Amino acid sequence: MADYILVLDEGTTSTRAMLFASDGVLVASAQEELTQHYPQSGWVEHDAGEIWEKTLKCALAVIPDAGGAAMIAGIGITNQRETVVAWDKDTGKPLTRAIVWQDRRTEPFCTALREAGHEADVQRRTGLLLDPYFSGTKMRWMLDNVAEVKIAADAGTLAFGTVECWLVYKLTGGASHISDASNASRTLLMELAGEGFDEGLCELLGVPHSALPQVTDMSGQLAETEVSLFGREIPITGLAGDQQAATIGQACLSPGETKATYGTGAFVLTNQGETIPHSTNRLLGTVLTQLDGKRTYAIEGSVFVAGSLVQWLRDSLGIVDVASQTEELARSVPDTGGVTIVPALSGLGAPHWRPDARGVITGLSFASGKAELARAALEAMAHQTHDLAQAFAADGTPWGTLRIDGGMAANDWMAQDLANMLDLTVERPGFVETTALGAAMLAAAGAGLYPDLESAAAKMRGTLSAFEPDMDEATREERLSRWQSALDAA
Ligand code: ADP
Repeated sequence: MADYILVLDEGTTSTRAMLFASDGVLVASAQEELTQHYPQSGWVEHDAGEIWEKTLKCALAVIPDAGGAAMIAGIGITNQRETVVAWDKDTGKPLTRAIVWQDRRTEPFCTALREAGHEADVQRRTGLLLDPYFSGTKMRWMLDNVAEVKIAADAGTLAFGTVECWLVYKLTGGASHISDASNASRTLLMELAGEGFDEGLCELLGVPHSALPQVTDMSGQLAETEVSLFGREIPITGLAGDQQAATIGQACLSPGETKATYGTGAFVLTNQGETIPHSTNRLLGTVLTQLDGKRTYAIEGSVFVAGSLVQWLRDSLGIVDVASQTEELARSVPDTGGVTIVPALSGLGAPHWRPDARGVITGLSFASGKAELARAALEAMAHQTHDLAQAFAADGTPWGTLRIDGGMAANDWMAQDLANMLDLTVERPGFVETTALGAAMLAAAGAGLYPDLESAAAKMRGTLSAFEPDMDEATREERLSRWQSALDAA
């Protein structure tokens, strides 16, 4: 019986194919690095043709481990969100390089839209802010600046899509031009409550509605691969943007359940159930799931500097040789001796939104050494997360549990400090590839291996470690007041 799930995990720096058994166990994986193009300061591009070729190569590399394409029940795709691909529907070829989510080139257009007073309305309708991060203004830039894109638009052959949409198009030999609701909710072109892309928002951003994909569910029989690729049509049964996939992979399927990914930066999403989020704290509202046409939502907040602070301790200050040494250093002293770090090395993200802020270290004395600095760096993760927790609560979404993942989550001291400072149970899965696992859960449910996503999550989620709060209120208060003073200085 076909009961393997093939996940295509399309990251920013690499593409991967991962083969899962139906119980969530990873059986095989293959990975290829993606070329990053930086044509100017603030610009980041990918070659969409390379993304497709390397994805196909990785998929072909792992399928034999399942015993062939006949044994694969469904394909799940998860991807770097917001990145835009433009291609020609007649040739199936990219018309220009993909503009990557990190790219800031549409800042002037966003500023113009903000100055014209559109932000409040756009935020109410889409859950997003007018920022170059999101896809819509990148599409407009291509139309204004790339002749091939404009010509295809005039000829009616232009197709726009985020990365999962592009891959589905190629996998189906051009038969399906679809985007799942979680990816679509990152474009500025879809209302959180709306079924498909919104004509009014398309008009505001100057993007032709006819070039956009059809918005679909995230699980189910969504499309089928072209027979020539794998020797058999394989159903595509799961699609999700990476952060939504990670939230699903952490089984945050009920309101209040929260996941935080600590990588270079930190991404936090809280399940908001069927209530459309309306943040008054500049957090983002986003689609978490769309299943059988019904949506659930999440509130999202991100912190710019998390693991990159540890990298800075390692590479610029030489305090540690490897990131994991921060743990033994933090444990080697009873406290930081009053040292506090505000890691605003590239400004402050949610909930402060001060891109102009810069980092600060307060409370230095002759007693301050490597250990105090390393401990203060790890403490900063809990402080930043605490501020997010407060903003989420002020938006009506207090956290129930906190489920952590990402490279930095391997640090037990940090995990315990998070539990202490948030006064919450912190859970960490044994299998940390939560993004791929979430896509596998969606695809397994979509392929009918499980009756619904909840059952898939219950069976496929592996073992957990839990960290229980163990700090007195006075210590927590002292830490927070020190943090607040340092933050004011930043
Ligand atoms: P990304 O996906 O953003 O590339 P990862 O999830 O791979 O990031 O996490 C890598 C980051 O985590 C690095 O910035 C590194 O400094 C940090 N990191 C990794 N292991 C540890 C650890 N044990 N303690 C503290 N930080 C760590």
